[in-house]
Amino acid sequence: MATKSYKNFIGGEWKTSSSGETFKNINPANAKDVVGRFQQSNRKDVNEAVSAARSAFPEWKKTPAPKRGEILYRVAEKLVKHKEALAQDMTREMGKVIKETRGDVQEAIDMGYFAAGEGRRLTGETVPSELTDKFCMSVRMPVGVVAAITPWNFPLAIPSWKLFPALVAGNTVVIKPASDTPLSVYHFVKILEEEGLPPGVVNYVTGSGTGAGAPLLDHPKVDMVSFTGSTETGRVVAGHCARQMKPYSLEMGGKNAILVMEDADLNLAVEGVIWGAFGTTGQRCTACSRVIVHKKVLKKFTNLLVKRTQELKLGDGLNEKIDVGPLVNEAQREKVHGYCKIGVDEGAKLLLGGKPHRAGGCSNGFFFKPTIFGDVAPKMRIAQEEIFGPVLSIISCRNLDHGIKIVNDSAFGLSSSLYTQDVNRAFQAIEHLDTGITYINSSTIGAEIQLPFGGTKGTGNGHREAGTAALETFTEWKSVYIDYSGKLQKAQIDD
Ligand code: NAP
Repeated sequence: MATKSYKNFIGGEWKTSSSGETFKNINPANAKDVVGRFQQSNRKDVNEAVSAARSAFPEWKKTPAPKRGEILYRVAEKLVKHKEALAQDMTREMGKVIKETRGDVQEAIDMGYFAAGEGRRLTGETVPSELTDKFCMSVRMPVGVVAAITPWNFPLAIPSWKLFPALVAGNTVVIKPASDTPLSVYHFVKILEEEGLPPGVVNYVTGSGTGAGAPLLDHPKVDMVSFTGSTETGRVVAGHCARQMKPYSLEMGGKNAILVMEDADLNLAVEGVIWGAFGTTGQRCTACSRVIVHKKVLKKFTNLLVKRTQELKLGDGLNEKIDVGPLVNEAQREKVHGYCKIGVDEGAKLLLGGKPHRAGGCSNGFFFKPTIFGDVAPKMRIAQEEIFGPVLSIISCRNLDHGIKIVNDSAFGLSSSLYTQDVNRAFQAIEHLDTGITYINSSTIGAEIQLPFGGTKGTGNGHREAGTAALETFTEWKSVYIDYSGKLQKAQIDD
């Protein structure tokens, strides 16, 4: 069967890139399977997309927010209808197992319903004035043209976290998806079009980070940038936006940890650690890559963990029986393999895995064995740097304070978790763990869309996605003063 080619979506039309070039989207479970060809866009295409978004902005801003919400509601309904097909295509383009891609689509559905409801809220404030016959309120205004740059590990969920709140707030958008996962965003944009989003309100431009992403960053008609990806690229985004005094939100890497105390339900903790470390093949920003275990239960916990991890089945994520899919591409597999060699050189004890997996029909994909290191010291590179693969470091701690110190000794601050039966220790951990998200008796993954999502330190720049917090990112506050006294009143200086 001939490989299908997909176009950009600009100003309500499906268009080829002015470069005349395309790139391949490969199935990471079988590199011989080409999922599709996508436009290799350049600055000219980006300029066109930004112009379309700018032209569409005044009308979209004027459209009543409840009407904007109604379109988004219909989009969510259509995502429900096509959930299975979307999940299948997503597994094929990025590898995570079908159960998880269904969850990815569900997250977009949840976000769609949530944002649609915001169309009838978008709340501001009214506060009393210090003067008589004067009314004070604050209202939310859209920022303008938003550039959304997204990663490949949540191909639909993350674009939905950006597009739904941005759109309900009255912004127009240009989205550049990750080159490993342009198909899921194509489907999303197609549904937005079909459900009546006016031309130019959302524009979709595929292509490389430098070819299609960078021109968005320095475009003078882009009013804000919403970025999710690596800390390295986040720094580039920050540099461009800071020079132009342009607002930007960054959601970046993590080095998330689970603390297991001596009173924890160890079987439950093992399940949580396996889910956190090897779900999405370790390629989640919230993946658990460090487990910090009280020394009294270290041996028992380690034995249980290794035994259970050995039972995980690797393979094509489209097979319902598979637990762990491939890494997203060969470069990522080489990076993960490189970190395993670093771990061994640093003196950590390789307990499991540490190498690519090619057996049992996996020879054409980018599979890597679930890997566990014991005897890891908190300062080792494998315990400090984001690996973004199925590699877990076990670190021993003396008590809760010591464990919290190890968790916090990180350049990142996204997600953390504590397993304990002691409510006092749970609340101490909630107070002292320096991360944007903390779980008690649950893994580091499993965020729900009605709460803010994001992290401290190197993970972000203070913004949050999801929940009503997302509206802070995609709106500007306007304070309004209405004086109905019929005379000149001066705040602060009138008696
Ligand atoms: P990435 O390499 O930084 O890419 C992210 C996006 O930026 C892609 O669309 C990429 O395009 C684009 N890009 C690359 N260079 C660019 C440039 N110079 N200018 C503009 N855009 C550019 O990250 P990734 O590998 O896709 O994703 C993995 C990372 O994302 C991990 O670090 C993970 O922790 C993080 N992440 C964070 C969160 C969170 O919410 N905190 C959530 C998910 C993932 P190409 O694909 O074409 O290169």
